[in-house]
Amino acid sequence: MQTKTIWLRFFLILGITALAISAKHSTKNAGSASELKGKIYSLVLFITDQQDSWTKDEKLLMLEKQNQAQEWLVEQARRYNVDLSFECSGQFGFEEDISLDFVERGTASGRESVDWVSKILYKSGYQSTQDLVKWVKDNTECDQIQVIIFTKGKGNGYAMAYANNMSREKYFVEGTMLYEKYNNGSDKPPASIAHELLHLYGASDLYKTFRQSAEKEKIARQKYPNSIMLKVSYDINELEIDNFTAWAIGWHTEHEPIFDFLAAE
Ligand SMILES: [Zn+2]
Repeated sequence: MQTKTIWLRFFLILGITALAISAKHSTKNAGSASELKGKIYSLVLFITDQQDSWTKDEKLLMLEKQNQAQEWLVEQARRYNVDLSFECSGQFGFEEDISLDFVERGTASGRESVDWVSKILYKSGYQSTQDLVKWVKDNTECDQIQVIIFTKGKGNGYAMAYANNMSREKYFVEGTMLYEKYNNGSDKPPASIAHELLHLYGASDLYKTFRQSAEKEKIARQKYPNSIMLKVSYDINELEIDNFTAWAIGWHTEHEPIFDFLAAE
């Protein structure tokens, strides 16, 4: 099978963490998705705006990609002797799209809205985002909650991570905005889903973005050439979770001085 590897430096299509935060208010170990270990509860939301709607087959395809991304994360965790499972999940919008008047298209600017999780939970009948946190705690054995918003159409996906200085009600439940296709119309690979999920647990981009310098990318290319935080591939098995990212998401505690340099500011 032919595989295609795309360097983000040139295409910038993987998506970025759209939050400007200081190191003091790190997203590491914060929010509903604080460490990528144990049992994870995934809430999937299918949304559309007035332009278009999802078909059932398109939704099933996105769920299959999510599943591939999660299976890959479990395999990677095993390399670090970390127990991880995605055994609990919920969905809104599978039978009928959650329809919003307007859905922003991510453009990798860092100025995207980051309150979609709370907005859509209210639209789905929640009085408070903490009701979801309580429900998961009371009804499942899951330790962490991640929300995956699948938006019909094109856009650059991004992660909405929580830091301790942010509004708990609006942002504590962490999620990622993922569009059906990239802005150029190409299909979204499972690796892109895994990349955005990793941001929720504290991973930083390792390619040049509005938050990361070219110098950091250069070092990352030397040290971690196959990192999923550096590049995307249509064959997820060409990629890996590098040692720095593994540290950032709580998979080991052997800190190296270079980690402080590589972390997004
Ligand atoms: Zn990213």
